[in-house]
Amino acid sequence: MTTAETDSCLETTGIDVSFAGLVALTDVTLRLARGEILGLIGANGAGKTTLVNVITGYQRCKSGTVILDGEDITKASPEERARRGLARTFQAGRLFRRLTVEENLEAAAFGVGMRRRAARQRATEVLKLTRLERLRHAPAGALPYGEERRVALARALTIRPRFLAVDEPAAGMNETESEELLELVAEMRDRDGVGILMIEHDVGLVMRLCDRVQVLAEGKTICVGNPDEVQRDPEVIRSYLGTRKVSVDAA
Ligand code: ATP
Repeated sequence: MTTAETDSCLETTGIDVSFAGLVALTDVTLRLARGEILGLIGANGAGKTTLVNVITGYQRCKSGTVILDGEDITKASPEERARRGLARTFQAGRLFRRLTVEENLEAAAFGVGMRRRAARQRATEVLKLTRLERLRHAPAGALPYGEERRVALARALTIRPRFLAVDEPAAGMNETESEELLELVAEMRDRDGVGILMIEHDVGLVMRLCDRVQVLAEGKTICVGNPDEVQRDPEVIRSYLGTRKVSVDAA
């Protein structure tokens, strides 16, 4: 990577969001570099999805800025952000269910302005990278849940993102599926240098996979640090980890 690419980062400063008087986020600052995985954790209603929505352009903020590689993208549409290299996956896959897996990938490529031939080539490349070639012609709507989540990640990778937000990638998966998915996410970081922001409730998985973790409670950041620091933080233990069964023995 060049120096400019190493300096590449996605940042938010002072994000405030309210919903009809309910304060969802207060003064939230976040920094994600390329090639790192930042886990975003916190109790239900802490504001994780709202923050990802602000970053990816699905939610306006009352104040604050979102900066991508030094450019203010606070007012950019989700499509514009995708063209600039910011992708996302949703809790529910949101694939085009009547299209095949390959067509879903091509649709993502068209969305960022690729022509037909380039889109086809990129889809082929990504199917190989994500070990999904055998599902190329399968209708997305007929996929088992674990495969669907994998295809959603592959689709995000199609646009060659510099940054990717993933919302609970392992939710509802069995252990094998979530291990495979974890491997795929780590490959996107290590091979493609993608900076990944990951909401995930499986704390064991977060602690094993993430380079840093940011913890939200009632719309505010209460801790940011490496997994060890975060697991030892008294406020994090009191407000979140203490209420959960944490298994990080495999770390
Ligand atoms: P979960 O882990 O349950 O997904 P979360 O940490 O992602 O929770 P958010 O979904 O961001 O939390 O919600 C933060 C707060 O904002 C909650 O109190 C939620 O009820 C509220 N909220 C979120 N979206 C809306 C909305 N569109 N309208 C009104 N209130 C909302």
